Amino acid sequence: MDKLIIAIDGFSSTGKSTLAKLLAKELGYIHIDSGAMYRAITLYAIENGMFSDGKIIESELVPQLHFMDIHFELNTKNGKNEIFLNGENVEEKIRQMEVSSKVSLIAKIAEVRNYAVDLQRKMGEKKGIVMDGRDIGTTVFPNADLKIYLSASAEERAMRRYEELLKTEHPATYDEVFKNISERDLIDSTREISPLRKADDALIVENGNLSPQQTLQKVMKIIKELKNLN
Ligand code: C5P
Repeated sequence: MDKLIIAIDGFSSTGKSTLAKLLAKELGYIHIDSGAMYRAITLYAIENGMFSDGKIIESELVPQLHFMDIHFELNTKNGKNEIFLNGENVEEKIRQMEVSSKVSLIAKIAEVRNYAVDLQRKMGEKKGIVMDGRDIGTTVFPNADLKIYLSASAEERAMRRYEELLKTEHPATYDEVFKNISERDLIDSTREISPLRKADDALIVENGNLSPQQTLQKVMKIIKELKNLN
């Protein structure tokens, strides 16, 4: 069977990237964390003073989009496909709370979405890709071979994210993380363009009480069944 395009969507911190990374490793595919692209654009806007009173100045950001070099490089030490913005590895910087608190405002902008979706589609041209995000199964790859919609409660998701941030140089309190996740959930699912929703043909995988390995096994079982059908 040819290589697949696998789309993974869901609310913030459902473990999409963790699952996508493990799946890509297991299948020998490329993993693209589409959220990292929106985060990198947000970091660019912050570092270049494009926010005023907490609002993005779109007229400054939009003309700059096509001059940004955003690409991924595989870190062979940790197996992670890490994101680079204009030549700098920004994998850690984009996870800071300041970026998290602004990214959903950036991701609402039509020109930003068009730019990111074009890049994402180009990355999928050769198939053999696992991409995670909010609109992968609905907009980026509506014909994906497999669509997974990951789901867990807001409390479980906040706890996971809080524990992840504790291991970095930029930790946050549980309450800050919970508030940020809830705000992003609301903006991401109610925005006008490509809001987060489950694609009609996506399979729901509840992983609130599953470990990353258990989630991987569950999805690998689905993939094996799919391959046997073809
Ligand atoms: O996946 P992650 O939580 O890192 O994504 C950060 C933000 O980027 C999301 O809250 C959402 O606003 C935006 N995003 C998006 N579409 C995607 C991936 C992420 O709008 N495909």
